[in-house]
Amino acid sequence: MSDSLTRRLNDEKYKNWMKTGQVLKILLDDILVPFAKKRLIEFHECLKQKDPYKKICQSCPEKKEPPTSCKTCTTWKNNILKEHSNPQRGVKWTNIDPKIWPKSIWEVAKTYMPKGQQPGVYSPDTSSVLNFILLCKIFKDKRIGDKMIKNVLQVRNAVMHSGMNISDEHFKAHVNTIKQMMNILRTCIDDTDAIAALKDVDGLLKVNIKIIDDAVKQSVSGNSTQFKQKEENLISQHFMAIDEELRSIDDAATYERMKKDFQKSLSVFFKANPDLEDFGRFKGARIGLQFEERQPIVRRRDDLDPWWGWNLPYVRPNDREMYPVAIDLELDYEYQQPIYVELGSHLL
Ligand SMILES: [Zn+2]
Repeated sequence: MSDSLTRRLNDEKYKNWMKTGQVLKILLDDILVPFAKKRLIEFHECLKQKDPYKKICQSCPEKKEPPTSCKTCTTWKNNILKEHSNPQRGVKWTNIDPKIWPKSIWEVAKTYMPKGQQPGVYSPDTSSVLNFILLCKIFKDKRIGDKMIKNVLQVRNAVMHSGMNISDEHFKAHVNTIKQMMNILRTCIDDTDAIAALKDVDGLLKVNIKIIDDAVKQSVSGNSTQFKQKEENLISQHFMAIDEELRSIDDAATYERMKKDFQKSLSVFFKANPDLEDFGRFKGARIGLQFEERQPIVRRRDDLDPWWGWNLPYVRPNDREMYPVAIDLELDYEYQQPIYVELGSHLL
């Protein structure tokens, strides 16, 4: 086992960060999504009944603007906005393809979500689901107060900005906040699932990871390979949350400042943990994470062909000006890695 993995496994603050991330994931998958989806399906059914035209629109612009001329989309828009707490300023049209409202429940939900979603696709995350619950009036009842939702959003933000370190005191407070929400929402979904989720959280909190004789005596899953897998999953989620957070920022100066802050804290972390560096390099490409040492080597395909015998200079994939030509390049890593190429702002 590498030294840096051993150190992480004995670092209480890092383990607190991991556990909080895991608890948030359990909250999302087992409580928030089933809860939101159940109400969303009922709401979508009501919207369908209120649509007298009953046909899929063919004429509206693809995305990025509210429908104005078409009767079907305008009917849907008006009925959806009636349930929005801030219809004037709170709708991010870049999130949505209004044409698919009648066939996609989550496309309707995205009308209530912060900027940063892609039209036509959706993968639930804690922030967007909580914002949907916060801003859509179908969730307004006495059980779920705005304060509780904002408290969990704060936990999610604290995890993201923590530099992958959480003190014992904050860890306890975060878990209490999350469990409070779980206990309230458990009455709104299938109770068996909610009980299982709470049990998972309690089990996770009891786990104590220590290194003895260079082996993980007890880990989240019982062995170090699975632990590593969980760790990589959490770091992936961390990157996804950061990416989404950045995409939700309207102001260019704030965007640059926050991006730099994230890059700085992540660079410190990956430098201290070289066993995760390649993983960080791959996942961090999207937010422009830079690595000073051990750059992966990129060669042109024909450079790899011995017939040509060319010896072109190595190209670093994070050289921004190289992206346009990088589409025909292959990455040559020490390890097997998926290929990533950034073209402009898109990750292929
Ligand atoms: Zn339309």
